[in-house]
Amino acid sequence: MNALYQRIVRLIETQGPLSIAQFMTLALHDPKAGYYATRQPFGARGDFITAPEISQIFGELLGLWLAQCWQDQDSPPHFHLVELGPGRGTLMRDVLRAGRTVPGFCEAAEIVLVEASPGLTAIQRETLKDSGVSARWLTHLDESLESAPLYLLANEFFDALPVRQYVMSKDGWRERMVTEKNGTLDFALAAHPLKGLAVPEARGAAEPGAVFETSPAATAIAEEIAQTIAAKGGAALIADYGHMGNGFGETLQAVKGHDYTKVLEAPGEADISSHVDFAALAEAVKRARAFALGPADQGAFLDALGINIRAQLLSKANPKDAHVIASAVHRLTAPDQMGTLFKAMAILPESVPKPAGF
Ligand code: SAH
Repeated sequence: MNALYQRIVRLIETQGPLSIAQFMTLALHDPKAGYYATRQPFGARGDFITAPEISQIFGELLGLWLAQCWQDQDSPPHFHLVELGPGRGTLMRDVLRAGRTVPGFCEAAEIVLVEASPGLTAIQRETLKDSGVSARWLTHLDESLESAPLYLLANEFFDALPVRQYVMSKDGWRERMVTEKNGTLDFALAAHPLKGLAVPEARGAAEPGAVFETSPAATAIAEEIAQTIAAKGGAALIADYGHMGNGFGETLQAVKGHDYTKVLEAPGEADISSHVDFAALAEAVKRARAFALGPADQGAFLDALGINIRAQLLSKANPKDAHVIASAVHRLTAPDQMGTLFKAMAILPESVPKPAGF
């Protein structure tokens, strides 16, 4: 049992059970031992590989998508170009390379990266140092982004946000907590049922044992983004694995070295995430009086953006890499790879042209 595990046990001994969201926050972001604070999780040697790390085409297409939205809204001369959870900075690097082909786009962009991890921030700085633009970093979205049109990307960011879980028992919904017994962490239901829990109607009737998983942090961030886009213009593209919030069930998972592991077993050593509830995000967008499009399946979305044409051009220019490029495209788009589990949702102001891919 690692040191963070033991610290969490002591915390529960002295302060009582934690919500799953509190546990996730410690496991992912504890400054000394948290997963994102201490590790470089991406790539073949890391715990998982993400779309921008698979192929430069992913970022290029997303960059051109954003630039098209910017042109559709009369190319505002100053806007915030924001990425949430930029990992190694690869996506932003590819977005900027493609964005440079659109006259005026990069010049009008004030680049802001939102990253909680100091270690990853340093890597992002390094990745972007030759990109010919200046960028600033925030640890979370703040008011400084409310003053201008917002063009935003988030790839595999929302799945990392903390979730809470509620389980239907015979006397109502009880929150599933993280507790400890004789020094071992375990899940247990809260002692008392909740008086009322707002569960979306689309979920249907909850049988005993049904699990309702929700991410208050995710909906709050989606609403904040949508408010700025509704007020100032802009566009957001959220790409992640997820579902449309039908029925009940839990999706919380831990991944270490490309394999699933137990969520509570080694906090700080495994990536903990959950499937994004796109229906909940769309509801939040609606509350902010912006417009949610999709989610579209990632495969269909990238297809509509021209991934095959771009791959052909790249292969022509680098014939010896043709098979690597083809296999990357397959990985990003095939239904049995990332093509249907991963989805893309857009946030736009009402009454602007519909962007490609939706
Ligand atoms: N977008 C990148 C990395 C995805 S991993 C890619 O596709 O490769 C999730 C990223 O979000 C990491 O950079 C992580 O440090 C960051 N992150 C997770 N939770 C965060 C939070 N609450 N606030 C800011 N950044 C966060």
